[in-house]
Amino acid sequence: MADVNRYWTLADRPVGAWPDADTFELREGPIPVPAQGQALTRTIYVSLDPYQWGYKRSGADKPGQPCHARTVSQVVESRIPGLEAGDFVFNTNGWSLYGLMGEGTSRPAYMVPRKLEPAQGRISHAVGVLGMLGLTAYAGMIVQCGAKAGDTVVVSAASGGVGQIAGQLARLRGARVVGVAGRPEKCRFVTETLGFDACVSHASPTFAQDLAAACPAGIDVYFENVGGPVFDAVLPLFNPGARMTICGLISHYGDAPGGDARAEETARAQARGVVVTNLFVGDYVESHHEAMLAELGPAVASGQVKYLEDVRTGFEAIPAAFADMLKGGNFGKILVRVSEDPTLA
Ligand code: NDP
Repeated sequence: MADVNRYWTLADRPVGAWPDADTFELREGPIPVPAQGQALTRTIYVSLDPYQWGYKRSGADKPGQPCHARTVSQVVESRIPGLEAGDFVFNTNGWSLYGLMGEGTSRPAYMVPRKLEPAQGRISHAVGVLGMLGLTAYAGMIVQCGAKAGDTVVVSAASGGVGQIAGQLARLRGARVVGVAGRPEKCRFVTETLGFDACVSHASPTFAQDLAAACPAGIDVYFENVGGPVFDAVLPLFNPGARMTICGLISHYGDAPGGDARAEETARAQARGVVVTNLFVGDYVESHHEAMLAELGPAVASGQVKYLEDVRTGFEAIPAAFADMLKGGNFGKILVRVSEDPTLA
């Protein structure tokens, strides 16, 4: 075990639209000591997610404190009954090499730490397909939109963490699924590996026509991850009574404060008779986490559902990887391995 902790923190509350080289600072501090009811854990995987930029811009992440993130970690020392040194856990150490979990440690109520069983699948999946991302896809595509055979379903950010799962869940129910992604290799992955029926690039100058051509029967379900020009191209293609979940609007995450892209998109879609639902994954943990695991656990293990991770390595890599993801540089669910994963040995 190293003798100091290292963590990334905000240099100041961000004022720019997107993070740059001055946004974050690397700091050192003592390794925390677990009290009764707590465990000290070493971070293995840091999950980088678009919502974390909102945390930083809104002030939920404070300068001087480790930036928030969901993590996969290994227990170093435990004072929690039932948890032992060497166990693997899902927790929220943030952008930090070490962290405490258990009594008195802060975390969002829907990110309850839990022990992981490496025999049941890759531990990194706990911050992805078998965790919040799988639940987000399941809640939006299955619970909210009710994707079914006969539907034409469109998924934006289709090769990303949530998008790849959402589209495959709809495919499993017999829907015709069209992805939207950036680079051509992402589009190829979406059709050739994930099995979507088509995928169009939002980077193409003919994007709106390409999307219309890929959806000759119109759009019945839209899983919104990005907003902006992608939504503009989807809007005229909605069939009457179509369903849309607004999962995320990443193209707006650098907007100046004041606008409300969600409200605006909701109003424009509703004006065309679309049933719009906003998604917050935390609302579905108690009601649907087990159902999600029951479907995606075996499907991922058998290879029926494919899941691509974009794993960067090294603690120093976190800020650049985060900025890259916000601009579409990731290919698959992005996470950073900051220390050894013994389950890979
Ligand atoms: P992704 O792995 O999908 O990564 C983000 C992707 O967004 C990029 O790779 C890029 O893909 C795409 N993107 C970025 N900027 C733009 C742009 N301007 N126009 C079009 N596409 C863009 O991230 P996640 O799977 O983690 O998250 C996907 C969405 O789900 C996000 O909006 C996120 O905030 C949301 N989310 C919402 C939750 C909820 O509770 N509602 C929970 C979890 C996630 P490409 O290169 O293909 O364009």
